[in-house]
Amino acid sequence: MDVRSSFSRRGFVGGVATALGYLTLRPPLELSARGLVMPTLAPWSGDPLAEYDAYAKLSFNENPYGPSASVMKAMTNAFKYGNRYNYPDGAIADELAKHHGVPRDNILLGAGSSEILDVVGRTFLEGDRKVIGVEPSFSAVYEHATGIKADVLRLPLLGDYRQDIAAMISAANRNHRDVGFVYVCNPNNPTGRIVTSAEIRQLLDGIPGDVPVLIDEAYHHFVDDPAYSTSVPYVLDGRPVIIARTFSKIAGLAGMRLGYAVGPRYLIERMRPHATGSINAIVKWGGVAALRDTASQAAVKTVTMELRARTVSELAGLGFSVIPSEANFFMVDIRRPVQPVIDEFKKKGVLVGRPFPPMNKHLRVSIGTPSEMARFSVAFREIFAIRG
Ligand code: PLP
Repeated sequence: MDVRSSFSRRGFVGGVATALGYLTLRPPLELSARGLVMPTLAPWSGDPLAEYDAYAKLSFNENPYGPSASVMKAMTNAFKYGNRYNYPDGAIADELAKHHGVPRDNILLGAGSSEILDVVGRTFLEGDRKVIGVEPSFSAVYEHATGIKADVLRLPLLGDYRQDIAAMISAANRNHRDVGFVYVCNPNNPTGRIVTSAEIRQLLDGIPGDVPVLIDEAYHHFVDDPAYSTSVPYVLDGRPVIIARTFSKIAGLAGMRLGYAVGPRYLIERMRPHATGSINAIVKWGGVAALRDTASQAAVKTVTMELRARTVSELAGLGFSVIPSEANFFMVDIRRPVQPVIDEFKKKGVLVGRPFPPMNKHLRVSIGTPSEMARFSVAFREIFAIRG
């Protein structure tokens, strides 16, 4: 494959505006017929950077379009602070506080929300405490807990892949003295299923009042289901709720590392000493611009949801069942062990999600650009020997 030609074609179909244009035209597979995609990429060029560019990257639930023009402009302007310590930072923390309608001391910044999740672990798992959460979920939380020698109480999902709130409540009550915090990923990664606002209330009302609940809203911006709502208002009620948010997903800033927590002051103050403060000048300005650029985020959401719907309906048409998702990824039941299928996709130049035990026959697919989704469709049909 000539990676250079792929690169220029990727540029052509890369922007969110172009992607929006495609939505009105045709389903992803027809992009292939028009020669806009290259379903097979091997042999590789041997240049690792070109190879990285050439993959359809459907493995980490990123925004494939990247930061919007206004965010790029703000970040470019901020390069002049690259050599400073005490630079103006766009008042990112105040902007976030304003955005959520909370006081400034309810906000803690992190180098990605991963840092926030680690900080919650370091703060609340001290003294041999456990984290309670479902499996599979965003496993970094459990890996961090294990890394600091804390216990993880992993609860199975319900039959429809939703989180088992009743089991969380009973585990938190049974282990009250030993629980450091409860983790709820909403929507859950990797299933894409939500916890409804009624269930969040049920959880908060059902567990001991002093047990912190970490609600990870990394995919908040993609949710349409009216039964979902953010849990930020509980912070203002003084409940022991910490919300984790990120600029890595809808805002397209995964490589720049910016996330934050919204929580009651007494919990944020306990967490603050554990945060590194290692957030760069550039992304702070990018974050401020992203908060204002709701139009670009709406466009990313529209194109992503539309491509998800098309891909899911195509898979359903081929006889595969897909877990209903409210995020920029979905899981499909492939009825066979997932690791060899992941390997097959990689050979065809498509990176898909890793295995998520115990769901070892489900494949997680992030929503990429129209071109990337077309490559996924072609590869899927080849791997599963589907003709026509
Ligand atoms: N939380 C969830 C549920 C995620 O899926 C991810 C990344 O995939 C993160 C947190 C971490 O994101 P970041 O550290 O880039 O903010």
